[in-house]
Amino acid sequence: MASRNECKLRDELVNRLIALNNKVNMLSAAWLHSEQARAQVQEQRQELVAEIKLHKTKGHDGKPCPAVHHA
Ligand SMILES: [Zn+2]
Repeated sequence: MASRNECKLRDELVNRLIALNNKVNMLSAAWLHSEQARAQVQEQRQELVAEIKLHKTKGHDGKPCPAVHHA
């Protein structure tokens, strides 16, 4: 287990991003006229993307995440 460059926190962030992506797709398909709801989810998504980026570059005590190269 220790020989693999994995990061639980990163996995969690990525899973959250996948869930949000699904939500965006769902909103796009089901509530076409609910621009506001969609914009809100898109905003959450962008925040999460920024969080993942920050985690990748300095998420470990200011150091890059060891799992970066798996993405
Ligand atoms: Zn990490």
